[in-house]
Amino acid sequence: MLLAHRIRLDPTPDQRDYFARASGTARRVWNWALAEWQRQLSSGQRPNAMRLKKCFNAIKYTDPAWLDANGQPWLRTIHRDAHSQPFANLAKAWSRYFAAKREHRPAHPPVFKKKGRCRDSFYVANDKLRLEGMTVVLPKVGRVALREPLRWPGRILGASVSREADHWFLALRVDVPEQAARLHRTDDGITGVDLGISATATFSSGEKVSAPRPLKVTLRRLRIRSRRLSRKLKAAEASIGITGRVPKGIRLAASKNRTKGARALARLHARIVHMRADFMHKLTTRLCRENQTVVIEDLNVRGMLANARLARAIADVGFYEFRRQLQYKAKRYGSTLMLADRWYPSSKLCSACGARHDNLRLRERVWTCVTCGARHDRDINAAINLQRLATGAFAAQSALPVASPAATSGTLTGMVPVRVGKVTPVRHEYGQQDGSGQEENDAHY
Ligand SMILES: [Zn+2]
Repeated sequence: MLLAHRIRLDPTPDQRDYFARASGTARRVWNWALAEWQRQLSSGQRPNAMRLKKCFNAIKYTDPAWLDANGQPWLRTIHRDAHSQPFANLAKAWSRYFAAKREHRPAHPPVFKKKGRCRDSFYVANDKLRLEGMTVVLPKVGRVALREPLRWPGRILGASVSREADHWFLALRVDVPEQAARLHRTDDGITGVDLGISATATFSSGEKVSAPRPLKVTLRRLRIRSRRLSRKLKAAEASIGITGRVPKGIRLAASKNRTKGARALARLHARIVHMRADFMHKLTTRLCRENQTVVIEDLNVRGMLANARLARAIADVGFYEFRRQLQYKAKRYGSTLMLADRWYPSSKLCSACGARHDNLRLRERVWTCVTCGARHDRDINAAINLQRLATGAFAAQSALPVASPAATSGTLTGMVPVRVGKVTPVRHEYGQQDGSGQEENDAHY
């Protein structure tokens, strides 16, 4: 089983400097490759990562753009993995883009990386690094201290070093033996989960959990720090006589205080990100640990994003991230994740009698079934309907769709009735873990 562990590093100032330069190299090579890719595409050729890399290798030690002030090729000071991996990442980014487009998911073509706006990271191949207790030995920098030892036994497949605010992390991809990756389930429940706006998640048991909103104190501090930084930016602009938009190609001088301000702001943003990630991990772990089957809706995220008011809530909650975590954690706990068809009207069916109410509005949080008189909380009702898909409790008496036992063990046969909704068992797949910035897919914080 492929798992990743992201470990905080304690680099020396020299090592930090190397990390920053290696990340800069990776970014610059990515931009070169992307520009070349686009150029070839517009001239009617079929770009190919391997060929591009060959072209780059031919010029990287001689082309004036890749020489330093003394005419020396500065790429020699950076380990090769940092400047060869961007080509593979770019090829993957393009194929991800086309795959998403084919499946009508939100798709973004690869974009140029801008210093300070993109993730700083670079790749190290597995044969170039060595773990020794609480240290890792990396090419060109030597021994770097780790904050914790690697959690998994198994073969290391690759690693990437990345920055978050002013901290550096090492993400290790490990092929863990099944036995060591398995976790113990504490209960055998079957739970339907409705993701929503008022509560982040509603369980079919009636329980509602909400993502922590960043505390008022944090938000206030965020405002203060942003204001401080923008004042310093204004001052930097004023000192060279710019009013309004900064023209392209102009670099503002970075004062010590501006750098400090930017760091403080970045740290705060990182903390808010950590709070959300922590909540999400605990939620998905709990669902997989306590249930043999978890049923969620395969949300039509694209349709929902078209609705501006819903868009923020969905983006905040991160439906894809929720599903991705459930997928790999279900495998570790030996539980099943089921996806209800996105056309399954989980919120429009009465969970008491099975009657369908198509004219239900989104703002009706509580409603009464005109057929049987049951009173429903919209979210709980939806969660119960999702749970029904797995239990099949109502199969005999109502028109509620039911997932046959066969469906949970991996086939689609014997389902009734398809008209209302169908259940697709989810294949356990591992996300991209390639050092392109997505490598900590399965990382545990
Ligand atoms: Zn009813």
